[in-house]
Amino acid sequence: MTKVRDHISKAIEAKKTEFSFEILPPLKGQNIDTIFENIDPLMEFKPPFIDVTYHREEYIYKERPDGLLEKKVVRKRPGTVGICAAIQNRYKVDAVPHVLCGGFTKEDTENFLIDMDFLGIENVMALRGDAVKSETYFKANTNGNVYAQDLVEQIIDLNHGNYLDEDLQNTAKTDFCIGVAGYPEKHLEAPSIESDIHFLKKKLEAGACYVVTQMFFDNHQYFDFVKKCREAGITKPIIPGLKPLATRKQLNMIPQRFSVGMPDTLVKEVIKCKTPEAIRQVGVEWSIAQSKELIKAGVPVLHYYSMGKSDNIKAIAEAIF
Ligand code: FAD
Repeated sequence: MTKVRDHISKAIEAKKTEFSFEILPPLKGQNIDTIFENIDPLMEFKPPFIDVTYHREEYIYKERPDGLLEKKVVRKRPGTVGICAAIQNRYKVDAVPHVLCGGFTKEDTENFLIDMDFLGIENVMALRGDAVKSETYFKANTNGNVYAQDLVEQIIDLNHGNYLDEDLQNTAKTDFCIGVAGYPEKHLEAPSIESDIHFLKKKLEAGACYVVTQMFFDNHQYFDFVKKCREAGITKPIIPGLKPLATRKQLNMIPQRFSVGMPDTLVKEVIKCKTPEAIRQVGVEWSIAQSKELIKAGVPVLHYYSMGKSDNIKAIAEAIF
């Protein structure tokens, strides 16, 4: 298998833009076939790597027979590591599991990384994760990593053969290539874009190899961000992440949940639509236009957020790759 950094270097050398995408594990109770049904139609575009998101625990409240509410901890989309192994086995393509600080102690993280290493997974995306849905702020676990930078440091330690138990002797070194997240319109908690870029740089200095951005709908956000990152001394690749708008609801949900702006023209186009299909088509066309401009600017990879459905990503890939 190959490191994502090498896939990116190859694309830069060949002056070619590669296609890659991110999938979500299915909801608990569903079969892995639902994943394959979404990946199969995209394989003709030869993605060098596929990301698989990680979904942390949520709290749900169930009414007991005595009328009191019982708090239960559930993970609605488990299976990230298993799906990655299945992808590598079935398609012979590098799978990139997302690993979070949230919900993990450092010991859990180490064991998670050992599993991935044993499965032949060589790439990971290191993320902090968000707050648990019912809570306002992110809280790290006791003995867990607080920021993505801490997680990158732990992975790099393991790459050097340094496990949490310092008494271990003659340890095996892992060899993970690490990606991290960047936010063209700044992370919603960051006080300023400069501060956010400052901490992005720290993640890269800690050993991450590349950045994948949060979605954006105006390419100027990406171009300005890359410029600011380069001015701040960041030299590593910054892969644009694109999500085709798919529903009217997303017009409000995306800005609110991800702190990402929507250009007026796109909003107006969506509001004019009379059917859900028409909205999906506007989203596809917008994403095609974004992709074309980004390819012209020489990005080595375009990374698409599939959100579990691949028909719109396929339509974009057909027009672009
Ligand atoms: P960090 O890099 O830790 O940054 C979090 C905030 O803290 C930022 O505001 C930053 O400026 C600040 N900060 C960073 N370091 C420090 C420091 N040392 N001191 C003070 N402040 C600091 N979420 C999931 O749950 N599962 C996924 O699979 C997933 N995949 C994602 C993929 C991509 C490409 C992106 C862009 C996001 C993804 N997310 C995912 C969402 C992500 O977990 C959230 O955006 C989260 O709130 C921040 O994660 P981070 O890794 O960017 O955090």
